[in-house]
Amino acid sequence: MSTNAPCFKQYWESKSRMSVKEKFGNANVYANNAKSILNKATGFIDYYDFTLNPYRGCQYGCSYCYAAAFSANPKMREEWGNWVIIKENAVEILEKELQKWHKKNLDKYPSIYMSSVTDPYQPIESKQKLTRSLLEVMVKYQPTLVIQTRSPMITRDIDILQQFRRLRINMSIPTGSESVRKDFEPRSPSIPARLNAIGKLVHNIPCDQNHDVRFSVTVTPLLPTFPDDEVAFIQKLEIVDRVVIQEFHASQNRSHVAGTREEALDIKQKYAWWYDKERVNYLKFKQNLVSLLPSVEIKEGKQGFGYE
Ligand code: SF4
Repeated sequence: MSTNAPCFKQYWESKSRMSVKEKFGNANVYANNAKSILNKATGFIDYYDFTLNPYRGCQYGCSYCYAAAFSANPKMREEWGNWVIIKENAVEILEKELQKWHKKNLDKYPSIYMSSVTDPYQPIESKQKLTRSLLEVMVKYQPTLVIQTRSPMITRDIDILQQFRRLRINMSIPTGSESVRKDFEPRSPSIPARLNAIGKLVHNIPCDQNHDVRFSVTVTPLLPTFPDDEVAFIQKLEIVDRVVIQEFHASQNRSHVAGTREEALDIKQKYAWWYDKERVNYLKFKQNLVSLLPSVEIKEGKQGFGYE
């Protein structure tokens, strides 16, 4: 622990007063113990038994992120992207919670969505390897697992992912234009890096009678893609079995209550050429997906986030 580290109380005035464990990239890193790691899945992902979030907070700090709204207080919402909390006891309690599930449910396997309010492969994971350790526990219990990430770091864990029998990997790529990506989510990995990663996963994780493994690209929320980039981007999505799209404004009320609200709204103004006709442009993009990817399932909104 650094002696000069700022105190966690700057975020959390009256409860736990943790000190910064370290600085990693742009973020102050904290650690604490979670009460549980498998939480009942609700709302958009209520298809699943549980959500699993190895971390609280997310270093990617995307301007439109709805998860920021679930921060503990306004200060943390405002500084979304600049802090992350490691759930130190996550491995230990996951093992206990899965054992408990199996005692109660015998041969029924739980379905788990990882993650709903963080990215399990955000930068700190490269050092912490918490998500990897959680996979090592899960693979013994063989849940139906869906992993949602925008990070090529997931390819590090191919050796474990190959062992899951029911797995879907969702790679988030909300735009086909790098400059748009840099405006809306400047700290996240590049589009080519994500496309390379999903290709590597598809080619290295077997799908056979013992492994029902599926791959999606989630273009959610659908951000503008420059007309010159659109066809080439869509054609690159042919490697997955599903593409999911979702309108920005469908979740506007929630996504924009976060501290990043002004930031996201300002960026949208820069792309008035697209947002002034958002519905029309959304439908055009969807039509292009359908016509250019005849063998890929195209789903919208909530429907696209299930395993099946
Ligand atoms: S990667 Fe996901 S959880 Fe992290 S800031 Fe971006 S949208 Fe939010």
